[in-house]
Amino acid sequence: MSVPFIDFTEQNKMIRAGVDRGFAQVIAKASFIMGPEVRKFEEEFAAYCGVKHAVGVNSGTDALYLALAALGVGEGDEVILPTYTFIATALCVSYTGAKVKFVDIDEVSYNMDPAQLDKAITPRTKVIIPVHLYGQTADMDEILAIAASRHVAVLEDACQAHGTRYKGRRSGSMGNAGCFSFYPTKGLGAWGDGGMVVTGDDKVAYMVRMLRDYGRTDRYAHKFKGHNSRLDTLQAVVLSEKIGYLDRWNDMRKHVAGCYARHLAGTGVILPAVRPDREHVFQTYAVRLENRARVMEHLTAKGITALIHYPIPVHLQEAYADAGFKAGDFPVSEKVCGDILSLPMFPHMTEDQVMEVARAVKEVL
Ligand SMILES: *Cc1c(COP(=O)(O)O)cnc(C)c1O
Repeated sequence: MSVPFIDFTEQNKMIRAGVDRGFAQVIAKASFIMGPEVRKFEEEFAAYCGVKHAVGVNSGTDALYLALAALGVGEGDEVILPTYTFIATALCVSYTGAKVKFVDIDEVSYNMDPAQLDKAITPRTKVIIPVHLYGQTADMDEILAIAASRHVAVLEDACQAHGTRYKGRRSGSMGNAGCFSFYPTKGLGAWGDGGMVVTGDDKVAYMVRMLRDYGRTDRYAHKFKGHNSRLDTLQAVVLSEKIGYLDRWNDMRKHVAGCYARHLAGTGVILPAVRPDREHVFQTYAVRLENRARVMEHLTAKGITALIHYPIPVHLQEAYADAGFKAGDFPVSEKVCGDILSLPMFPHMTEDQVMEVARAVKEVL
């Protein structure tokens, strides 16, 4: 039995009729750009996250970039982020002209190690970006306390953490702002690109709204050199249909993770660790194991797709060669890159499928 990495067929069936109706309305009105469906979804998403404002943009990358710009980040500033993340977290900092300042991760949670923050902060530090990797938030209380004491803003990269909770609070709602991606494979995915900035700060929300739409304050009045980065109306229709299911789908992911834990118990595979004070919604089910290359080869031979998130930490990417980092600078991230493996994970994955993957892993080990 082959097992895909992700299969959203069942999800798409659940929302199809509503999406068809919504699309028909958008097409009838030709309201493709900034139709009322965008504002409707922004309100639904803000309510879901428990924040005052949500501003739709065209990707998670732009959400991060525009939020940084709205927080006033620019040339001469420094932004702190983990090196173990998807490269977009760093790229958006570079777009602003600010300098990326990496910190290492905690080896158990794979999230930013707050113990490294204090010495990474300088008088130029403007923002800290904790990345809520794989579906579990970073240590927000510690990070927020350090940020407050050093007068630095916090921007949550919640692009892998839709709906996940930390001490009862939703991801994205704890920092000065939070950013989400609706890339199709994310926990809440569109049928194309999309993103969102959420914030309780009126000024940040105002700035992101201007910046995503050519810096406009009126049809042809432009206050800032803004961008073209709006959430597409058709994508807002899809996301509105999906958001009502998100908590249920996250629960289903947790159930799949439970199946994996049972079937991989006693194999020596390092399973994802769930911190007691927070939720893990398993956007990615990442394990660490010996012989990763051989395991992947065997899974591929059996028609099972596994991927590596991430094989190279950002500080060692060619794109950041000019920053002058070298191997050994962030040893935990580099070590985890060497043996981490993402197994198939999606809400409607069956226990049979989990057993098939677990069996194939065990055959190698
Ligand atoms: C996906 C992702 C992004 C970028 O989102 P896009 O919508 O693909 O631009 C940023 N940060 C993290 C951690 C991500 O996983």
